[in-house]
Formats: sequence, structure tokens, C-alpha cells
Amino acid sequence: SNAVTDAKGVFMNIHEYQAKRLLHSYGAPVAKGVAVYSVAQAEEWAGKLPGPLYVVKSQIHAGGRGKGKFKELGEDAKGGVRLAKSVEDVVTNAKEMLGNTLVTKQTGPAGKQVNRLYIEDGADIARELYLSILVDRGTGKVSFVASTEGGMDIETVAEETPDKIVTVGIDPMSGVTGVDIDKLNTALALKGAAAEDGKTLFPTLYKAFMEKDMSLLEINPLIVMEDGHLRVLDAKVSFDNNAIFRHPDIAELRD
Ligand code: ADP
Ligand code: MG
Repeated sequence: SNAVTDAKGVFMNIHEYQAKRLLHSYGAPVAKGVAVYSVAQAEEWAGKLPGPLYVVKSQIHAGGRGKGKFKELGEDAKGGVRLAKSVEDVVTNAKEMLGNTLVTKQTGPAGKQVNRLYIEDGADIARELYLSILVDRGTGKVSFVASTEGGMDIETVAEETPDKIVTVGIDPMSGVTGVDIDKLNTALALKGAAAEDGKTLFPTLYKAFMEKDMSLLEINPLIVMEDGHLRVLDAKVSFDNNAIFRHPDIAELRD
């Protein structure tokens, strides 16, 4: 067991698009996107995104969607996160995904039915990183966990290359300090514009985590884009029972 897997045994997860909306309200950089429940909505709303690249993302309470498989489609069909190059292409993918059952590493063999899609502006990705905030059971401190090895399970990174995971504990009295920011920028090998973005992003994420009483805030991947800036590309946010009582706006998001 490690800090990340411990923090995953919690009460309530919200969907990726809800987590992104929440983080965006704190000022974190996320793509433009729309949540849709039908093919007609997908067609209507995708047209309002800038394009030319769109990403159609299954909204289920489980990770590993990109590498997941739909039960009703063939082995060769694409997974639960798909790139689309036109609104037409978004519609074709939405038809294949909505109502079908996505099986991922985290859903178990039964899979989960996809009733909601998030259609997002596509990003030009230079690097995929891992960043999370959780309460480290060992130290009791709210801590960042950072790794340059984003886009894959942190459990796998922990097993295969544990030296590539850096934990930075935050002093509750001082919050995220300049020293903490330097440690995180170094751990993620951020330079230039991305390191500048880190200076505001890390305290922003910490503030959201603390104010909303999150149990886990996991961004996998956090990306460095081709233009050198950071973006939150995937987001998982979990809460425990007590947090839900204190935040009825979050309790309302329960399915
Ligand atoms: P999951 O972790 O459930 O597989 P992610 O949201 O992490 O889902 O998406 C999987 C992969 O798809 C990412 O690692 C990234 O490479 C790609 N991806 C996701 N969203 C976008 C996007 N908006 N633009 C470009 N690529 C994306
Ligand atoms: Mg992910």
C-alpha cells in the first residue's frame, strides 16, 4: 500500500468534467468542454468548441478509460477516450459510445455504462505528468505527489520506478511556499513558461483541496503543451462523508 492507493478508498467521486469545472472556478487551466447526454446534444454543442481537434471522453467513475474497451463493440474498436477531427467525427464516436458498456482496469469485468460524454477541445501535448494532492497517512500532512511519468497508473510507476515519484509535504501554517514550488517544478522538470504556470497552479490546487475538503485530487495527466504552458487534462476528485455534509453543492453532484 502507498499514500495514493490509501487515499482512493473514499466515499464519493465526481466526474472528470465536474472536477474540471470546480478547478476552473479556482483559476486552474482546463480546456473548453461540454458535457452531453445524447448524440443530438453532442452535435449541437461540439460545434460551439473551437476545434479543429476534439476529444470525446466517457464520463464514468473509473480511470483507465483511454485504454478501456466497449463490451458491445469489437476488440479492434477504439477505447473510452477518443480523438475526433470534425464535428461529424465527434457525432460518429458519440453514437458508438453512448449507452454502451466500458470495461477498464478499474471497472471490473462488468464495466460501466456510459451515459454521459465530455467533449473537450484537443490539446497539443508535449509531455504528460502526474500530480496529486492527498493526506499522507504516514506523516498526516497534506502532500503533493509528483512524477514526470504521467498518463499511466501511479501504482505502476510506484512499482517499477519508485525513484520517479516525489512527495512534498505542506506545512499547514505556511501553505505552499516558494521552496515547495521549486521542489515541485524540479520534480516535474518544468522550465520557462511551464515553471511560471506552476507557481500559480500549485497554490491554486492546494486552495481548492483545502477549501472543498477533498480527500484526493489527482491530475493524470497534467500536461505541458507544445506552446510551453500547463493544462489539467484529466482530473479525479474524491470526498469523504464529512466533506459532503459541509458542502451541499458537492453532495448534489452524486449520481
Ligand atoms: P483515462 O485516465 O481515464 O484513460 P484521460 O483523461 O487521462 O483518461 O485520457 C487518456 C489519454 O487521452 C491522456 O493521457 C491523453 O494522452 C489523451 N487525452 C485526454 N484528453 C485529451 C485532450 N483534451 N487533448 C488531447 N489528448 C487528450
Ligand atoms: Mg487519466
